[in-house]
Amino acid sequence: MEHIETYLAQLGNRSDQRTGAVNTPIYLSTAYAHPGLGESTGFDYSRTANPTRNILQEGIKNLEAGDYGFATSSGMAAIQLVIEGLLEAGDHVVTLQDLYGGTYRYFHAVEERGQYRFTYCLSAEEIEQSLNDDVKLVFIETPTNPMMTEFDIQAIADKAHAVGALVVVDNTFYTPVLQQPLRQGADVVVHSATKYLAGHNDVLAGLVACRGEAIGEALAFQLNTTGATLGPIDCWLTIRGLKTLALRMNQHQSNAQAIVDYLKTESLVSQVFYTGKGGMVTFEMADQSKINDWLHAVKIFTFAESLGGVESLVTYPKTQTHADIPEELRLKYGLNDGIVRLSVGIENGQDLVKDLRNAFDHIR
Ligand SMILES: *Cc1c(COP(=O)(O)O)cnc(C)c1O
Repeated sequence: MEHIETYLAQLGNRSDQRTGAVNTPIYLSTAYAHPGLGESTGFDYSRTANPTRNILQEGIKNLEAGDYGFATSSGMAAIQLVIEGLLEAGDHVVTLQDLYGGTYRYFHAVEERGQYRFTYCLSAEEIEQSLNDDVKLVFIETPTNPMMTEFDIQAIADKAHAVGALVVVDNTFYTPVLQQPLRQGADVVVHSATKYLAGHNDVLAGLVACRGEAIGEALAFQLNTTGATLGPIDCWLTIRGLKTLALRMNQHQSNAQAIVDYLKTESLVSQVFYTGKGGMVTFEMADQSKINDWLHAVKIFTFAESLGGVESLVTYPKTQTHADIPEELRLKYGLNDGIVRLSVGIENGQDLVKDLRNAFDHIR
């Protein structure tokens, strides 16, 4: 593959030989005529395969260095596809406590129904201690949301594979521009493409990439059977967003660094969590009672529940993304009531720093 910037910018181009369309067409047709008995153009019915979706699926497959790619109706649908497509009733999953709140809610719900069993870990050591022949799958996020803890994918994959468990990594925060988990031993990568990949807070989408025929065919069967595929217009919007991903990630990261440099000098901030990569910055407000006033005072940052778009957002995990996680569990990994999460956008970095500084001055 050429460099990632080139691949991204060209994604889906020259797919239509007949017209020479530079950009990929949106194929809305759900049904495709058969040339004859037992013959197919490769397309029969849109749940099974759609030309626009194929381009996006080929894109995520190559971006993540996988053998198969899938596009789903949301990030949660991608996670559900992988869990239900690869596990049997009663199977045991080892995962992290510090997870996207919706993932935790889903895991908790299927466990309550008796479908699968989960062990929640706070560290790489706990993951290692939880691994045994009974474990079928390890599901991690790195970095974690919102505490920004990084995990060594290769080390976890080596240990998981030694007991015959598969490794699934949620790569939503770093994207394939910054991290390619399949190259570090993971078997499956999932994305909420709603975030950085689509990048404009205008499409809900999930993507999956995986290695090996057994996993790929199991997921293809599951997606065609259950049907949570991504619609062609949303596939096109995601392809359109991906074209600028590398450029956007650079700007997200340099703006995040400028904000971190400022937050570290801000006396009203007691802790800053940033890995040095990407656009997500979490910090702890020294005085929790001032958070509401502070949220009212930011003008460029929007108080909203998402991340990864071109515009800067601020989230309060306690009442938003992580509201379904019991308090005593949250506190165990540092997600206390002072934690605020920034999704740093691609605006001018100094404007963003000024916006935050003004808001702190307002509550000082
Ligand atoms: C948002 C998010 C999800 C869920 O994706 P949706 O597209 O909202 O369904 C999963 N994992 C992470 C890390 C997320 O940020």
